[in-house]
Amino acid sequence: MSTPTVAIGALGGTIASTSSADDGSEIVPTLSASSLAAAVPGLDAVASVRAETLATLPSPSLDEPTIMRALAWARSAVEAGATGVVLTQGTDTLEESAYLLDLFWDRQEPLVVTGAMRSSQAAGADGPANLLTAVRCAVETASRERGVLVAFDDEIHQARWVSKTDSMSTSAFRSAVFGPIGRCVEAEVVYGVPAGRVPALRLSRGAESEDPRVPLVATYLGDDGYVLDAIRSDDIDGIVIAGFGAGHVSARMAEAVGRLARQVPVVFASRTGSGPTGRAMYGYPGSEIDLVARGAVGAGWLSPVKARLLLWALALRGPVARADVVAEFEVRGRP
Ligand code: ASP
Repeated sequence: MSTPTVAIGALGGTIASTSSADDGSEIVPTLSASSLAAAVPGLDAVASVRAETLATLPSPSLDEPTIMRALAWARSAVEAGATGVVLTQGTDTLEESAYLLDLFWDRQEPLVVTGAMRSSQAAGADGPANLLTAVRCAVETASRERGVLVAFDDEIHQARWVSKTDSMSTSAFRSAVFGPIGRCVEAEVVYGVPAGRVPALRLSRGAESEDPRVPLVATYLGDDGYVLDAIRSDDIDGIVIAGFGAGHVSARMAEAVGRLARQVPVVFASRTGSGPTGRAMYGYPGSEIDLVARGAVGAGWLSPVKARLLLWALALRGPVARADVVAEFEVRGRP
C-alpha cells in the first residue's frame, strides 16, 4: 500500500539550527526542510514527504506576511494532493503563527505546526521526535476538521489555546485550562475530544500582502498610561492591552484606553496566562465593566498575543466596526 503524502514546510528555528563552534554554542537556523525530514528515523514508513524550505529564520524574526505566505503554500500543497501539511518553526512565536494560520485555514486536511527546544546537534535532540509526531498527526483521519494543530512532546494542542510556557524545557507547550486534545502513543494518534472547529475567517483576495499595525501593550504596577498616551491612533489599526487579572488597568490608564477606543478598536486581555477576561464582576475605574463602557472589548479566553492576531486578521479587511470586533471575539474567544 502506498503511503500518504505529507508536505513539510520549514521556516527555521531551533529545530533547524546548527552550530559551527566546537562547544555547540551560538546556534543559528541553517537546515533545509529535506535535511529535517532526512533526520527522522522511520519517517518513510509513515508518509511520502514533499519538503520545501520556506524561510530559515529564528522565529522572533518571523512576521505575519511570512506566515500568510506559508498559509498559501500549505493550501497549494493540499490542492496538489497532500493528505496533510506540517510546518516547522522556532518555538518562540509558534503559538502565534499556529493561531494566525488557524484563523484562515479553511481546509479539512490537518495543518500541524511543530518545532524543537534542542538543536539538531544537541544530545537528545527533540526535533526528529516532534516532526515524526507531527507527520503522524497529519496523516491521521481523526485529525481532519480540527483546524491547525500543534504537535509537541507527544501532545497535540489546538492552535487557539496553546502557549509556550517554559523558556527551556522540552515540554514547553501547554493549553491552559482546556489541556491538550490528543496524544501520540506508540505511533498512534489518539484524540480525547471529537473533531470540530470554529469556521475560518474569509480571506479577501490580495489581503495576504496587507500588514495592519496592531500593537500589544502590557500594563504594570503603577502604569499611568504613559505608553498608551505615546501611541497615535492614526498610526495604528487597533490595539490590544494585556491587563491585570481578568483584564484590568489603573484608573489613569483607563482614561487613555477610552481616548483610543473612540478612534480605533481596543481589546483587553488577561496577562495572567490562564482564564478569561471578566464581564460583570468589577465596577471600579479600569475594571472590565468600566473598560467596556469606554468602548474597549474583552478578549474572552484568548491570550493577549492571540487576541492581537485576531484583531490583526480582522483589520486585514480595512477599518473594523466595534460591533464586528465584539461579534468575532464572542465566537472565537470562547471554547
Ligand atoms: N528558542 C527558539 C526555538 O525553540 C528559537 C526560535 O524560536 O527560533 O526554536
